[in-house]
Amino acid sequence: MKHWVRFFILAALLSTLTSVTAQRSFKENFEDNTLRFDFVLAGNHQEIDVFPEQMKKEPGWAGTMRVDTDGPDYGTYRFRLVDPTSNELLFVKGFTTLFQEWQTTAEAKKISKSFYQGIFMPFPKKPVTLVIESRNYDGQFEMIYQTLVDPANYFIREETATPDVTVISGKGESHRKVDLVFLGEGYTTEQKEKFLADVQRMTDYLFSVEPFDKNRDRFIVKAVWTPSAEKGTDVPGTRIYRNTKFNSTFYTFDVDRYLTTSDMRSVYDALSGVTWDHFFLLVNTEMYGGGGFYNLMGIGSTDHALSEKVMVHEFGHSFAGLGDEYYNSEVAYEDFYNLKVEPWEPNITTLVDFESKWKHMLKPGTPVPTPREAKFTQTLGVFEGGGYMNKGIYSPMMDCRMKSNVTNDFCPACQSAIQRIIDLHCE
Ligand SMILES: [Zn+2]
Repeated sequence: MKHWVRFFILAALLSTLTSVTAQRSFKENFEDNTLRFDFVLAGNHQEIDVFPEQMKKEPGWAGTMRVDTDGPDYGTYRFRLVDPTSNELLFVKGFTTLFQEWQTTAEAKKISKSFYQGIFMPFPKKPVTLVIESRNYDGQFEMIYQTLVDPANYFIREETATPDVTVISGKGESHRKVDLVFLGEGYTTEQKEKFLADVQRMTDYLFSVEPFDKNRDRFIVKAVWTPSAEKGTDVPGTRIYRNTKFNSTFYTFDVDRYLTTSDMRSVYDALSGVTWDHFFLLVNTEMYGGGGFYNLMGIGSTDHALSEKVMVHEFGHSFAGLGDEYYNSEVAYEDFYNLKVEPWEPNITTLVDFESKWKHMLKPGTPVPTPREAKFTQTLGVFEGGGYMNKGIYSPMMDCRMKSNVTNDFCPACQSAIQRIIDLHCE
């Protein structure tokens, strides 16, 4: 037997053994259920406080059953579960928050505010230390909260919900699939058919875009019917206020097209009893807009001519942690990125650590930076402009789904980042 053949057999054997060990270790530490930890993030442009609200045990766990500590280090926040005796890291997950975005607005320099937030983790079998960390302006994580979670604590509420779920696409074991859930917002009770048709339309569009198209069978897409008292959503700038299930609103941080909700408690309650990895709120309005936050939420309108494209863009944020590649639009942020550190988003760079990004994907001879000239329209390069700034931040292509509504496609750097996240869900 040739040496390299032996080597590959050995490597394959080792990788199988590692995965079996990882699974056994996961099952030693966790049940196939979910722990929901709700808290309030409060503070101003430089202070953060965490106030715990409640814990819940939800049936089933949608994530992988391996020890999930080797994923990408994305997000402005992350939480870790640590064995209190051995200090072994048992679980880690990055996420973003509306609070962190608000901290970069001018308002945060004048007043303090609070935002409701939840994190979801596999339900521990033994007491674990939960650590919540926030990424500082220099890109480093700092602990902002720590507590011991005892699974026997009878204040962890167990409730059984009976959500109205329709499977739109896919089947199989949730541990090895991406479980994507669409929730309806601003649909009245008689609009269930419209909601299901909207979810079908969005799903079909998502799976027409690379690389989601070739990964369709790795997704389970579900629609959860959550009717509202009134149709539409709030538009404070034109004094429109609607009574809706999740209290969504345009004019987030006073930007007209910025559609979000801060009523996360209602959203999480609606997801109770649903197995989900990611959710997207479909807002029943013809106005243009949306929002996307890594491992927090995706949200977008349904009936604008560009709604499908916006949905895919926002899902790029919420699912794969992609950053915005545009730099000429109005935003509420000030000094959102520190140009002295490499941003965590996989599709933008300050060139501080370009090696960690898509540099290996560039064709030899591609100029770095790459001029924004017509001859480079189809070239993967490093174009100055991105992340809301026209200087100091660079993006992979002249255009991308994360930059404009002109193109349908994600650039190769974004596609590769999305594929990585899909693969991590399906290991
Ligand atoms: Zn891109």
